Amino acid sequence: MKLTKSFNRSLWVFHLNTGSCNGCEIEIVATITPRYDPERFGMKLVGSPKHADVLLVTGPVTKKMAQKVRRVYEQVPDPKLVMCIGTCGQSGGVFYDSYNLDGPIDQILPVDVYVPGCPPRPEAIIFGVVKALEKLERLEAAQ
Ligand code: SF4
Repeated sequence: MKLTKSFNRSLWVFHLNTGSCNGCEIEIVATITPRYDPERFGMKLVGSPKHADVLLVTGPVTKKMAQKVRRVYEQVPDPKLVMCIGTCGQSGGVFYDSYNLDGPIDQILPVDVYVPGCPPRPEAIIFGVVKALEKLERLEAAQ
């Protein structure tokens, strides 16, 4: 992968918490602090799904959040990607088999990139963002 080519565009990310314990959120915040500073490559968190290329989802998806997750996904313009951050979104994690879940997330949305861990470290999240960028470029080239 050529870094200059892969970062020739910005990657705007909208984060959605679907019932997380907040551990993944803390690592996402750590990822955007000056220590890692992915914003210098063009990756930044945005306040609206309508401005985003990537939907960053954390948590196991509670029943109350499932419909809202679908609604937010529909608001992200195409081409779009879904990144699942943390074990809860992949399998339910520590909330596995709980009575009030509609997740994991791939029961509700198509997931493009999984970043495992409970919670994943910032390095893993940045690696996932690079994978998302590569996939987004492939989608755009195919359009
Ligand atoms: S994966 Fe771990 S840190 Fe992330 S929301 Fe689930 S329990 Fe919390």
